[in-house]
Amino acid sequence: MDALVEKLKKLGFEGELDDSQETRQFYSHDASLFEILPELIVFPKNESDLQKLVAVVNELKSSTPNLSITARSAGTCMSGGAINDSIIVDFSKHFTAIEQVAPRSAQTQPGVLYRNFEKATLQQKAIMPSFPASRELATVGGMVANNSGGEKSLEYGKTENFVSKLRVVLADAQPHILKPLTKPELESKIKAGGFEGQMYQKLFALLEANYDKIKAAKPHVSKNSTGYNLWDVWDRQTGVFDLTKLFVGSQGTLGLVSDITFKLVQEKPHSGVLVCFMKNLNGLGELINTVVATKPASFEAFDNHTLSLSIKFFPYFRKTLGWKGLFKLGWQLIPDAFLLFRGIPKMILLIEYTGETPAEVAQKVHAMKLGLKPYKLEATEEDSTEAKAWKFRIMRRESFNLLRKKVKDKHTAPFIDDLVVPPPYLIEFLPKLQAIIKKYNLLATIAGHMGDGNFHVIPLMKIEEASERAKLEPCMREVNELVLHYKGSLSGEHNDGLIRGPWLEEMYGKEIVDLFKQTKRIFDPQDIFNPHKKTDATWDYSMSHVRQKF
Ligand SMILES: Cc1cc2nc3c(=O)[nH]c(=O)nc-3n(C[C@H](O)[C@H](O)[C@H](O)COP(=O)(O)OP(=O)(O)OC[C@H]3O[C@@H](n4cnc5c(N)ncnc54)[C@H](O)[C@@H]3O)c2cc1C
Repeated sequence: MDALVEKLKKLGFEGELDDSQETRQFYSHDASLFEILPELIVFPKNESDLQKLVAVVNELKSSTPNLSITARSAGTCMSGGAINDSIIVDFSKHFTAIEQVAPRSAQTQPGVLYRNFEKATLQQKAIMPSFPASRELATVGGMVANNSGGEKSLEYGKTENFVSKLRVVLADAQPHILKPLTKPELESKIKAGGFEGQMYQKLFALLEANYDKIKAAKPHVSKNSTGYNLWDVWDRQTGVFDLTKLFVGSQGTLGLVSDITFKLVQEKPHSGVLVCFMKNLNGLGELINTVVATKPASFEAFDNHTLSLSIKFFPYFRKTLGWKGLFKLGWQLIPDAFLLFRGIPKMILLIEYTGETPAEVAQKVHAMKLGLKPYKLEATEEDSTEAKAWKFRIMRRESFNLLRKKVKDKHTAPFIDDLVVPPPYLIEFLPKLQAIIKKYNLLATIAGHMGDGNFHVIPLMKIEEASERAKLEPCMREVNELVLHYKGSLSGEHNDGLIRGPWLEEMYGKEIVDLFKQTKRIFDPQDIFNPHKKTDATWDYSMSHVRQKF
């Protein structure tokens, strides 16, 4: 590393370089199950610093083969995407400018926290609606790299739908603009030659030669963050070739994102929620289908464990809400106290509708209440303004963070944390999933985006104990096989990273994974960007980096 640091300084690298033990320890974790100690953390000041870094790593790669660059923004990745053993590039310090916001689009640097970005877009009455539950913690760069989604993805889809242009530093150490190209524009890029021309030429040839196979490999779910999104890059019908589709969700394995242009949507003027309390989960699969048929704007849920922990660790919410918010939350929970005294419901569902007028929203919420009568729910609460449902919304969004921060003797073990099954299969799928959780004796919380069939199952485990670690592989195999049996995806939004990368062949088969690997080599021939993730992940490497202590 000394040679690298020296060369960077000579080239006039403007940002900071830090190899102190304390900083390396801090960057050895993200929100995943893993830990890897990096050698150096760099805080680039600008795009020119990124170019210098890539150039020097290229130069030294043959003499120091394990040199690599892993991008990191807020470090909330749950699949281990933001940690590695060589250089970590932190975008959250200097890449924090929101450059331009208009009613329908915004240009920003990747290290901007989503919560700050939203403050700016709301001034135009607009939002980027794929924000995750970690909206208070995550950056827009991490959202792009993971192809994140959240409560509004049922209506709007994920981040991939909202990226219109990316500026990226690729393996040639040069900045490039990625945006949708027409066929003539693609041809002129190829003609221009150089690294960029070759990259377009090779990828186009790969996509053309395997066109039908690649289109057929697209998972049949409404959300997917696994593999490389090859099926949406080239469309013979429209003649559009769009590399943003490949880069969104590629977890920094193809290059570094230095600038993003997002499409925005106007905020809906009115929304309301039906809150449902379920005594047991009988009929949940059927109920989900009934709700989805009414096209709600969002449909979220969390279970009894999450609710109990939210009540037990109530003061925790002061961190995100402040004292005023905490008081408001407590006050709003008083009407529910009677219900909760009778026993904690097994599942709480939040079904949201939007509309042009409050009356339209109230009518939709009420119609859903009537529609759910046959399910004999424990209780329902109508809220035509969303103000009353806010307390449950906060619990749902904060559920994972609460578990991470508060449960002292056990640790959150995200390894079956993001599965997606098409809603029509949930009637059969859910009881089988619960049976596996029981078989492995896991205390697991379940929350998720019901409308997409996207479940976050987060076991709490003493992962430092060998007997607990031994459950990971067989349990994951059983759950994954079940998900794939029902034509699902292993990750709706949290991506592959270290945890799901080794399972890509299970999901896509060898032939498609080979195409993913060829894609990685086109962009990153020397393997400098975020190794051990996605197609380069191996179960042995990942498992040898499971956290040993917390
Ligand atoms: C409490 C909690 C709740 C969560 N809920 C959700 C949820 O509802 N939906 C969801 O999708 N996710 C969720 N997540 C996971 C995570 O928050 C999101 O994926 C988030 O978008 C990651 O953003 P980040 O800034 O923390 O990225 P990081 O963790 O820093 O990085 C994520 C990935 O992006 C890459 N990357 C970062 N910046 C760049 C860049 N400039 N160029 C290239 N690659 C880059 C990294 O290498 C890494 O692979 C949750 C996490 C937590 C802790």
